[in-house]
Amino acid sequence: MQIPRLTKSIFLDQFLYMQMVGVVIGLCFPHFLVWYGFPPEEVLTWQFYLLTQVAGQIVGLLSFLMISMVVRPHLKQLSLKMQDIAKGLNEKDFLDYSAKCNEELCTMDVVSNDEIGVSASAYNQLLSALLSAHENEQLFNNFTTVMSQNLEVNALSEKTIDLLISSTKIEAATILLFKNGEINVEATQGILKPQTLTEHTSVLDAVNKGKAQRITLPKHIQLDGVLTHFTPTEVFIEPIEFKGTHLGVMIAATGSEMADDRTNTTLHLFVRSMGLALNNALIHSKFQRLAAYDGLTNIYNRRFGMARLKEDFGRASREQSALSVVMVDVDHFKNINDNYGHLVGDKAIMLIASILKDTLRDGDIVIRYGGEEFLMILQGASSKDAAEVSERIRYQIEDTVFNHGEQQIGMTVSIGVCGYPETLVTNEVLLLDKADQALYHAKQTGRNRVVQFGALSD
Ligand code: GH3
Ligand code: MG
Ligand code: MG
Repeated sequence: MQIPRLTKSIFLDQFLYMQMVGVVIGLCFPHFLVWYGFPPEEVLTWQFYLLTQVAGQIVGLLSFLMISMVVRPHLKQLSLKMQDIAKGLNEKDFLDYSAKCNEELCTMDVVSNDEIGVSASAYNQLLSALLSAHENEQLFNNFTTVMSQNLEVNALSEKTIDLLISSTKIEAATILLFKNGEINVEATQGILKPQTLTEHTSVLDAVNKGKAQRITLPKHIQLDGVLTHFTPTEVFIEPIEFKGTHLGVMIAATGSEMADDRTNTTLHLFVRSMGLALNNALIHSKFQRLAAYDGLTNIYNRRFGMARLKEDFGRASREQSALSVVMVDVDHFKNINDNYGHLVGDKAIMLIASILKDTLRDGDIVIRYGGEEFLMILQGASSKDAAEVSERIRYQIEDTVFNHGEQQIGMTVSIGVCGYPETLVTNEVLLLDKADQALYHAKQTGRNRVVQFGALSD
């Protein structure tokens, strides 16, 4: 039953109705006393009516006050907390707010099983749903940032694992990816011997057939020290795919607790999105490779080489360490083109590039500097060391016979060497220029020779 509303305030309505009840009780009470046996001349007087009216009003007022004192504080607390949350929601970072929002601060005590208690408990449920929705939003925002800012496959994989471990029940994870037909560990945290994971059939099934698996481990099975440092409760094996292409697999283990909804949702979302992000990262690294390598010889191109030389020279001059550059130019190469054609010329360039590459130590690099000109950067090598390497190269090329059908084509190279800090130059371009002068001198003095710039200036 609904009693008509009188004002805009429910409590004021309540008060007015209580006062009306007081008036009615005040009017009825003298008649009740007459019925009970009191003499009418004593109770049906205006003084007695006034008295019962005052008493009725006081009872009305008291009952209003009691209701206000019992009900109002609960409603007030609920409304204040709701206002507080609404204000927090408008603030820039709701999560900062929610982090401060501990049990007593934000949640309501459920003190009754009536509508007020039900409202308090519904409020608590709404609040926790709101906080978890905001946490998810924040997590997914972070993940989107990781995906868009990390174009390197390795950084992307590592950051994804970091985020997964820091925000879900997952405590250890490994990402294995295909690279040149092999499956390798790209990133790992908390998994023991991740490289041996590829020996497991479940992992192979995920990689080759795209089959996902979720393994719940019974408590009595002790797997300490087998997969992780702790006893995992659940292990997820999730294939990473993009448009049906198997890119790799993520293996993730929860700690002492089972995966909750948030862990499941996050893990699956991450794995699905990683397919796309990894595909982008792989394309990016392919492009990077394309941008750094020469198409014909598959060694570094001039643009990459110059950037690398600048870096290496910077380091050598800071650390006062040795650095040598070696310029190699094929002798009378035009003749090969003229006599056998450009395609044969190309093959000859490829052969020279592979000889140079095979001669170098780790850390040294060879660059296709121009048509049939190569630049080598030898770190930590003095001019004398570089000249020795150059002599070996010169001999080897002279000794190599390039077969074209029936024809046997011989080639020689001229080499110019310049070493820092013996030749004290201020930048890498000058160092290169000196090596070029040495090369020019080698050409001028009969070709098939190695000339050191330092020896020139003596
Ligand atoms: P030298 O260095 O001994 O003075 O004589 P050279 O005949 O080698 O003269 P130079 O270095 O000036 O000539 C380089 C020639 O290499 C000119 C060009 O036709 C040829 N060349 C440059 N790049 C390529 C290439 O990618 N493929 C082929 N086949 N030939 C190239
Ligand atoms: Mg030449
Ligand atoms: Mg040349």
